[in-house]
Amino acid sequence: PDGTHVPALVVGTGYGGAVAALRLAQAGVDVHMVEMGMAWDTPGPDGKIFCTTTQPDHRSTWLRTRTKQPLSNFLGFPIDRDIPRYTGILDAEDFAGITVYQGRGVGGGSLVNGGIAVTPKRENFATVLPSVNPDEMYATYYPRANATLGSGLIDPAWFETTACYQYGRVGRKHAQRSNFPFVFVPDVYDWDYMEAEAAGTVPRSALAGELLYGNNHGKKSLPKTYLAQARATGRVAVSALHRVTSVAPAGSGGYAVVIEQLATDGAVTATKTVTADRVFFAAGSVGTSKLLVRLKATGVLPALNDEVGQGWGDNGNVMCGRANHLWDPTGSLQSTVPCCGIDNWSAGGAFAEVAPLPTGIETWASFYLSITRNPNRARFTWNAATGKVDLNWQTAWKQPSITMAKTIFDKINAKEGTIYRTDLFGVYKIWGDHLTYHPLGGVVLNRATDNYGRLPGYPGLYVIDGALIPGNTTVNPFVTITALAERNIDHIIATDL
Ligand code: FAD
Repeated sequence: PDGTHVPALVVGTGYGGAVAALRLAQAGVDVHMVEMGMAWDTPGPDGKIFCTTTQPDHRSTWLRTRTKQPLSNFLGFPIDRDIPRYTGILDAEDFAGITVYQGRGVGGGSLVNGGIAVTPKRENFATVLPSVNPDEMYATYYPRANATLGSGLIDPAWFETTACYQYGRVGRKHAQRSNFPFVFVPDVYDWDYMEAEAAGTVPRSALAGELLYGNNHGKKSLPKTYLAQARATGRVAVSALHRVTSVAPAGSGGYAVVIEQLATDGAVTATKTVTADRVFFAAGSVGTSKLLVRLKATGVLPALNDEVGQGWGDNGNVMCGRANHLWDPTGSLQSTVPCCGIDNWSAGGAFAEVAPLPTGIETWASFYLSITRNPNRARFTWNAATGKVDLNWQTAWKQPSITMAKTIFDKINAKEGTIYRTDLFGVYKIWGDHLTYHPLGGVVLNRATDNYGRLPGYPGLYVIDGALIPGNTTVNPFVTITALAERNIDHIIATDL
């Protein structure tokens, strides 16, 4: 309620926010989490909380009147559809040169993501977080993050036989015939549940096209892990459909936090101010960067340094599909949860997930999301004329990613005598180079903040999400975001409380 005082306020309920809330609560601090998306705890008219990727309805998309699917076309035909404007689960946030996909709701990106839980190779860690001691990350914080997230590997014997990973086996065969290292990747999806789905003994989720717009079963998203543990302490409250718009030093000490309450059509129905002794920014790379850039530029937090807004990267994301021969079907039943990849990072700067195309029909396509060593970094700036924060990323900055991804797929195509698909992102367009799933940076550790996420000049203000990571994690990012948050909150609890 308006006028309340809280010891700790957390902006956002994704990985960084969930770690902060759990560990602060365990240390005896009362925490209030503020989340602009919905709670996603109530079934819709069809009895389900989430809709599927094949039948997206109003629940699919954050405040748009038409879906904006990452794969916009199939066989050249546009597949987006009109929907009522609603505070749906997947946000396709447009900047001038890139669309950034993000989860909206209690659980943040964990609600919409693939659940792929990869720890970077230790030899690459110095490029991921140069100011962080790798010994404590690999001995303590990565294991803690993986254990609490519940990540695990597919049963290799089941992988060999199940119809729903035919596409994975085809991906492996093509990788290995071209001499690329093939790897299994851990995931937070409950693998036993998925085997039961395939056996027909439980309701289907990963095998029913659920993922991008939420999983009704099987995925151990944050509301089932960190946030469940946080609530069980009795010290954590969560306000969904509430958006933080300002954090300003309060005369009385602490910070005045301005919060808008939203209706499901996006309208603001109330504005509240609460005071907090400490505020943890965990609105995601884009959300935290946008807030802090605006608060600095508009004189609310003028002492923030000039690194705020800088060092943003897309984790080198680029997508593509390959057309296989008729004797290489990838299967009409595809699990939405990826379980394997092609690791050409050291030789070619690309790590490619073998991804599903869960259309329900045979496509003879192999589909991949590559993470590449793209060196380009963008900057967020305040645009006073529009009253918005801009990002100066340009579409052409994806070219290094395409070049690196081609080190894998040109070779596979040459070996197999196959070609790229040109019908998935438009008409005659090979590369999905207009988007990222992995925004990182904008308020980089040890540059915009100190080496633990404290914002200099403002005691009690912290950044604890993907905004801290300087643009690339060499693999999928959420395990690193979680482990870094574990490291930082450990230090903050020991030193500042
Ligand atoms: P987020 O998880 O983005 O959480 C931020 C939260 O803050 C959101 O809930 C948001 O609604 C809320 N918020 C923002 N602004 C405000 C505000 N002003 N007031 C209140 N609340 C606010 N990563 C992997 O490692 N493996 C994968 O398989 C994978 N697959 C992905 C698939 C998709 C489709 C997408 C979109 C992402 C995927 N990712 C994956 C990326 C991963 O989900 C993100 O890196 C991760 O969620 C970022 O964590 P975070 O804590 O920084 O922020």
